[in-house]
Amino acid sequence: MNKKKTTLCIHGGAGNINPSMMNAEQEKSYRQSLKEALHAGYSILEKGGAAMDAVVAAISSLEDNPLFNAGRGSVFTKKGLHEMDAAVMDGSNLAAGAVAGVRNIKNPIVLAREIMLHSGHVFLSGKGAGEFALNRKLEFAPDDYFFNKERYDQWIAIRDSDFYQLDHKDDNLKGIPVNTDHKFGTVGAVACDVSGNLAAGTSTGGMTNKRFGRIGDSPVIGSGTYANNKTCAISCTGHGEFFLRSVVAYDVSCMMEYKGFSLQQACDEVVQHKLKKLGGEGGLISVDAWGNYYFSFNSSGMYRAMRNSEGNEEVAFYGKP
Ligand code: ASP
Repeated sequence: MNKKKTTLCIHGGAGNINPSMMNAEQEKSYRQSLKEALHAGYSILEKGGAAMDAVVAAISSLEDNPLFNAGRGSVFTKKGLHEMDAAVMDGSNLAAGAVAGVRNIKNPIVLAREIMLHSGHVFLSGKGAGEFALNRKLEFAPDDYFFNKERYDQWIAIRDSDFYQLDHKDDNLKGIPVNTDHKFGTVGAVACDVSGNLAAGTSTGGMTNKRFGRIGDSPVIGSGTYANNKTCAISCTGHGEFFLRSVVAYDVSCMMEYKGFSLQQACDEVVQHKLKKLGGEGGLISVDAWGNYYFSFNSSGMYRAMRNSEGNEEVAFYGKP
């Protein structure tokens, strides 16, 4: 077997992320947090481990970090709860696991992988998913574990309105005052391991003040998350409603499979043209089976990082790619 280039990419959300919003201290904590997650995942790839394990390790690290809108740092719903969504997909056999609207699960991404491996299903939601997590002896955490002052203030500012808010975007608030100093987001990872196997995962608390059991693109296979060894692994972040309607992750894969596009061409066609035309803001991280990677976003920024076996490491927040 030929050893392939190993690559891990992660994101911590895309959106309205500008240098004017962050001081040196905040930049430092984001940088450090992204590097920690990279290390958690890449150390697995380095030892010849599986892409799926690297993805779950990197995302678990981001879920444990209150800076990001996933796991511990999840935003508040209209009812003041935390309802989390997550998904994983294995590009080697197209196996997938996803979960929506779960509460008190410490690492929803681990639950998504358990669903893929042990449930006989792909997508579980709400109470049933919680029951399954209990059966699998997954770790639960009390409500106060998920309490975060910044997120609480974001929610308090809009909870009596009909507005919902992307964690890192405030355009739909139309004058309602919110704290826009700190921008956080959904998290995701994609990886290519030494065998050329691909995996993708995404985890999120969704949108502040969301209601009616709203589910975004993140846990929907093909929209926010997709992996196929024939093409690419993708994890998205942005305004979920648009990503759902555009079936973004699978569309990138299709552009490669049916049109022969390169990874970069496919990502840009979908994110910079098709999605943008519909009004969808956000971005994605991607890797192909040769270990090539690409970040594409049409928002002002995206928390992102990558590391590969050629010794490249990159951590960035701002700017058009
Ligand atoms: N895509 C996520 C959702 O709509 C939000 C995000 O990426 O921050 O739930």
